[in-house]
Amino acid sequence: MEIYNQIIRDVAGLTGKSAPQRYSYNPDRAWEDAGAFELIMARDAAYELGGDDKPAVNFTCVTTSPELVDGDGIFVYGQDLGSIRGSTPFARVTLLRVGDIESDDDDTEQAFRAIQNMDFVKYRVFPKGYMIRTSSENHREQIRISKEAIRKGISFERVGNSFLRQYKQDENIISARVLFITAPDADYAGLQKAAQQVGKITMSLTKIMEGMSTDCTTCMLKPICDEVEGMKELHFGKEKHTTE
Ligand code: SF4
Repeated sequence: MEIYNQIIRDVAGLTGKSAPQRYSYNPDRAWEDAGAFELIMARDAAYELGGDDKPAVNFTCVTTSPELVDGDGIFVYGQDLGSIRGSTPFARVTLLRVGDIESDDDDTEQAFRAIQNMDFVKYRVFPKGYMIRTSSENHREQIRISKEAIRKGISFERVGNSFLRQYKQDENIISARVLFITAPDADYAGLQKAAQQVGKITMSLTKIMEGMSTDCTTCMLKPICDEVEGMKELHFGKEKHTTE
């Protein structure tokens, strides 16, 4: 699974100059879960990550490369939740390492379903006092933090453990990393571009799985397949193509 590898490599250059705070995965440190979507009223909110039209980027990349996702962890670039005082730019990037789930035709389809399921994790984690609002069209994930959660000591480490605990329930996932980015010098435009590229790749996978054209010379996805390492191999693994 190489199709997201270049994006994963690029992320390292988009997180700003300061070294991240790094935390190990510890499911006992997961933040209390509300069990379902919890509405936080504006009057009860301390602030919003991505509020006031600031960037709020979210995407997930999957790879089989142990070099690119070397173990579990939570990485915080910039201020943590307890130090933030108002609306701030925000990005959450998830990097997942999976086993080889694309070795034959059936497995290619299985890989695609597995990727979809992994991405749906964001709809199954409800940290208390951390209201997630997503828009899959523009890859936004805006977060409203309650004053009560701040009083109780919510942090990215605790929320990151909530996400990791959910990811680790998926037997395809060998290791998972969650990156929280609030650094003022992070390249949010670059992160947004990466999110759009992830969206394009996922859309292409959807089309491939729907059994679209297998003739590269007339295929509307050719520009993205030419650009993304491993896309053609992924489709070639599913059906025979005409590439001349
Ligand atoms: S490999 Fe060829 S046919 Fe398949 S999606 Fe890419 S460009 Fe289209």
